[in-house]
Amino acid sequence: MKKITRQKIIETVKKLYMDAAVYLQEDVLMVLTNAYEKELGLAKELLRQIIENQKIAASEKLPLCQDTGIAVIFVEWGTEVIYEDGQPVEAFNEGVRQAVKEGYLRASVVDDPVFERKNTKDNTPCIIHFELTKGDKVKITLAPKGAGSENMSALRMLKPAEGLNGVKAFVIETVRKAGGNPCPPIIVGVGIGGSFEKSAILAKKAILRKVGEPSKHPQYAQLERELVKEINELGIGSMGVGGNITALAVHIEYYPCHIASLPVAVNIQCHSARHMEAEI
Ligand code: SF4
Repeated sequence: MKKITRQKIIETVKKLYMDAAVYLQEDVLMVLTNAYEKELGLAKELLRQIIENQKIAASEKLPLCQDTGIAVIFVEWGTEVIYEDGQPVEAFNEGVRQAVKEGYLRASVVDDPVFERKNTKDNTPCIIHFELTKGDKVKITLAPKGAGSENMSALRMLKPAEGLNGVKAFVIETVRKAGGNPCPPIIVGVGIGGSFEKSAILAKKAILRKVGEPSKHPQYAQLERELVKEINELGIGSMGVGGNITALAVHIEYYPCHIASLPVAVNIQCHSARHMEAEI
């Protein structure tokens, strides 16, 4: 058994959130650069600015977007890990709190969503998804999610008879309706199957996959390729100015579902596709 302390979780979460706000991963940079090389006109210039902005953020150690998001955290907790410092969720929130303070991240979380909407001033509480895994490690993936792209996401309970065409139509409709609002070029995470909530979590997980890495399932990989093509034919382009590249990738995750259901969730990720992971 391995013991993990509150302080270790706090330090890890703080670093992940501060780094994620500033640095894009190599795979994201690579697809943005590829998009820049292929794009034309004003959309090309905007891609140049997006890439330049990322370089400035990294060299100045400043957040690459003013919306430093709500902290979404996926935790894979090994069953051989002991935690004796109380409730681990508290340590995750403390890490977020310290990152906001030390990293000068924007406080964007309100306590009550309808009535009070009072800013908690430290981006707590974060959103945590725990999963038990084998072993003595804790893997933490932290993805700050801005509202511009999150608000353009959607979920629909399709009838099973709507099938593949229904899935495709819903994904395309969601991206078309979003237009320039989610700061394209976007990564489109699609969760298919499970239940209402499971499909949403799958869609969120899908945007964390290495950009452009296809689904391991050949039919879903084919569907991903078809959706990227059809989305790019919409012509929304970078920041909605029109162009050839609206989606950098479509990633699909799937799960078995009820015989009478076909849940489909679409989680849209803006070009500030931020996430960092660590294992402790
Ligand atoms: S959608 Fe993304 S890039 Fe646009 S403002 Fe929000 S976090 Fe920033």
